[in-house]
Amino acid sequence: ETMEYGPSVEDSSAVRDWLAAKGEFGHFIGGKFTAPGAGFDTRDPATGDVLAQISQGSADDVAAAVRAARKAQRGWAKLSGSDRARYLYAIARHIQKRERFLSVLETLDNGKPIRESRDADIPLVARHFYHHAGWAELLDTQFPGHVPLGVCGQIIPWNFPLLMLAWKIAPALAAGNTVVLKPAEYTSLTALAFAEICQEVGLPAGVVNIVTGDGETGAALVSAKVDKIAFTGSTEVGRKIAETLAGTGRKLTLELGGKSPFIVMEDADLDAAVEGVVDSIWFNQGQVCCAGSRILVAENVADRFEGLLQARMEKLRLGPPLDKSTDIGAIVDPVQKDRIISICRAATDAGAELVGGNAAQGCFIAPGYLRRIQPANPGMQQEIFGPIATLSTFRTADEAIELANNTRYGLAGSVWSESATVATDLAARIRAGVIWINGANMFDAAAPFGGYRESGFGREGGRVGMLEYLAEPKVKAVREAEAKAPIVAPGSD
Ligand code: NAD
Repeated sequence: ETMEYGPSVEDSSAVRDWLAAKGEFGHFIGGKFTAPGAGFDTRDPATGDVLAQISQGSADDVAAAVRAARKAQRGWAKLSGSDRARYLYAIARHIQKRERFLSVLETLDNGKPIRESRDADIPLVARHFYHHAGWAELLDTQFPGHVPLGVCGQIIPWNFPLLMLAWKIAPALAAGNTVVLKPAEYTSLTALAFAEICQEVGLPAGVVNIVTGDGETGAALVSAKVDKIAFTGSTEVGRKIAETLAGTGRKLTLELGGKSPFIVMEDADLDAAVEGVVDSIWFNQGQVCCAGSRILVAENVADRFEGLLQARMEKLRLGPPLDKSTDIGAIVDPVQKDRIISICRAATDAGAELVGGNAAQGCFIAPGYLRRIQPANPGMQQEIFGPIATLSTFRTADEAIELANNTRYGLAGSVWSESATVATDLAARIRAGVIWINGANMFDAAAPFGGYRESGFGREGGRVGMLEYLAEPKVKAVREAEAKAPIVAPGSD
C-alpha cells in the first residue's frame, strides 16, 4: 500500500522553513541554545526523511543544565505566585498563537495524524499551562507553608511529546521549582520549539532547561544533583530509576505502562462503545499508556458488538499523518513497529486470531484486534503500545472484574453501561488510577492522573499533582493561614 497525499494535506511549509533554517539543534541551557554537538538524526516516521540533527547530551551537559537551574531557582521561588502565573499565562498564549506550527511539527516528528495534534495535543498543552497559572496564583492561599522542592529532573516519552512536557513543566514552575527536562530521542523538536517560546516570553534564564539525548542522557539526569525526578515511559526504565534513587531521599514520581480494561456491559449503547474503542486504542496508533487495550464484552452482546466494531475498524483511514482525513498515522519509529509486530506474533503463536492489524510499508500498521485470546496469552498480558486491542467475553460482572484486574498494571479503565449504578459499582472495583464511564481517554488539567502497581506512583494534574512538586508544609504556617482563611479541600477543583 502506498501513501498518497490527498488534497486535504496540511501546509507544512512554515515548519519546513524553520527546520531548514536550524538544521541542527543544541541544548537549551541558562536561557540560550548551546552550539550543536555530536548527536543523531530525527526523522519523519511516515517518510523516513531526516528532519534535523539533535545533540546527544553528555553528563557534562546535564551538569551544566542543573547548575543553571540551581542558579535560577531561588529567584524564581522568590517571585510572588501571581508573578510566576504571568509567565505561565504568557506561555499558554504563545502556544495558542503557534498552535498550527506546533501541531505540524509534532505530526512530522511523531507521525500522529494532524487532526489529533490540532484537536487534542496542542490545545491540551495550552490548557495545562492556563490551569497551572491559576495554581501559581493560588499557591500562597491554598498551599500555605509549602515550599518548592528545588531543581526537578524530568524525563518524558515520545507518544505525546509536547503534552508530556506540559504535564511536567507547568506544575513544577507554578510551585516555584526550576527544571531540566529531557525529551525522548525520537521526538525532541517540539521541546526545542518550546525553548524558543520560553525566550519569547522572557522567562528568566535557567528556569527551564532542555537537554536532548537518549537513555544515557536520561540516566545522567537521574544521577545528577536534582531534588526530584519525574519520569513517564516504560516500566523497565522506571524500575531502573527507582533503584538508582532508592535511599537518596530525592522525590520520585513514575508514570509507566498500562494494559487497561475496556468493559462493555450488556446494557451498553454498543454504537457509542465502538466509538469509545476508536478513541481508546486506535487513537495515536494505540501508543497511549492509558489505552483501553483489553476489550471485555458481555457474552450475550458480543457477536453484535464485534460486527459493529469490525465494520467501524474497516472505515478507519490509514494514511499520511499530515492529511486531515487520516485516522491512523505512522508508528513513531521502526523499532516500535517491530516490537508491536513481535508481540502480535507471540499472541497468534499462542492461539489468538488477529483481525486486521496488517503491517504496511514504512512505519504503518493498520488497526486490528486479537480475538479468541486466553487470559495468559502474551498479547493479553503485555503492553502492545500499538493499534491492536484484545477482545474477550465474560458472563457475569464478577467475571468482568476478575478479568479486568488480571494484570500487573493499574493505570486506567473504561466501563460502558446505560445504568449509572452498574457502571459506578464496576468502576469502584477496578484497581486503576483513572476510570472513565461511557468514555475513554478524556484528559483534564484539573483531574489527577496516575497509576497503581507496575503503572507507577504519584499523580499529575490538579491539586494533588501540585503537591508532588512541593515539600511538606511547616505546621505553624498552615495554622496561621487557616486562621485567616479556610483551605480548600483536595478534590474540590
Ligand atoms: P523508554 O522508557 O525507554 O523511554 C522513555 C524515556 O526515558 C525517553 O526519554 C528515554 O530516552 C528515557 N530513558 C531510556 N532509558 C533511560 C534510563 N536508563 N534512564 C533514564 N531515562 C531513560 O520507552 P521506549 O523504549 O521509548 O518505549 C518502550 C515501551 O515503553 C513502549 O513500547 C511502551 O510499552 C512503553 N512506553 C510507555 C509510555 C507511557 O506513556 N507510559 C510512553 C512511551 C513508552
